[in-house]
Amino acid sequence: MTQASTASDPAVRGESRPIFIECENLVKIYKVADLEVVALQGLDLLIRESEMMALVGPSGSGKSTLMNILGGLDFPTAGRVRVGEHNLLEMTRRDQVRYRRHMVGFVWQQTARNLLPYLTAVENVELPMALAGFPTKERRDRAGHLLDRVGLGDRLKHRPDRLSGGEQQRVAIAVAMANRPALLLADEPTGEVDNASAEQIFHALRALNEEFGVTVMVVTHDMTVATRVDRVVGMRDGRTSTEILRRRDGDVAIREEEYAILDRAGRLQLPEAYIDALDMEDRVRLRLEDDHVGVWPEHTQQGEMSDNGN
Ligand code: ADP
Repeated sequence: MTQASTASDPAVRGESRPIFIECENLVKIYKVADLEVVALQGLDLLIRESEMMALVGPSGSGKSTLMNILGGLDFPTAGRVRVGEHNLLEMTRRDQVRYRRHMVGFVWQQTARNLLPYLTAVENVELPMALAGFPTKERRDRAGHLLDRVGLGDRLKHRPDRLSGGEQQRVAIAVAMANRPALLLADEPTGEVDNASAEQIFHALRALNEEFGVTVMVVTHDMTVATRVDRVVGMRDGRTSTEILRRRDGDVAIREEEYAILDRAGRLQLPEAYIDALDMEDRVRLRLEDDHVGVWPEHTQQGEMSDNGN
């Protein structure tokens, strides 16, 4: 470590915040005809209050499944999952509806799914508040404020077809925040837009995260998001596999450190590139040293198990 982290370090401040989302040994099995698909196989994940994080991983690794569970759109099969005070395994359908309305905001990849085409931007943002019974003035003020915060203060009266894809996504973020959710879930929000628009979308998410303390989870398969969030959690085969944390190093530079996840049962998943590089398969040799653990391919002889690095 080159320099001690300080309290102004966002990652350090973050580590003192309470845990908001807790998944432990979470399992989701889909039954399709006679087949069972295990989409989540014992996933462990902790997310702190007001964290802005991304889930990345190849298609089929379970990202959407996890998001649907955390969003109250689907029930897990087994394990533990808590969001704030809510135990998502024990919710009734009725609790689930209430949870979805009051705890969570969604942004979907398909822009068309987020907005009503015949309403203006400000009307789209007001709609969830109207359904929740907020008075007219309050919803107009809040809708204007939210659109301003996502950089669209001059587009209030535009209908979606007069906005670019990126602008529509930012309206969608404002809509998702309308009812003051504690958790904002965004599924590939930048999947259909260019780089500049993606930057503005992340900027908007960050602005709302900072102003309202909303916890943000972005699902994506774009690894470049690492520079835009506090933490990136990698998923593979229905489990979390790696984490990249951003820490401030001194006053200016941002350091990214990659971690593997050690689950509660002591299991560690090595990155695929490491396994390939050393041709590891089935079994590996381990050796406990004073301050680390060495891992060698199975065929390595005892005498060859030397530590070159340290
Ligand atoms: P990702 O979002 O990372 O692409 P998903 O969560 O969509 O991954 O999928 C994880 C696994 O679960 C995949 O094998 C997928 O085919 C399967 N799956 C997802 N949703 C369903 C469903 N509704 N019915 C059956 N299998 C599903």
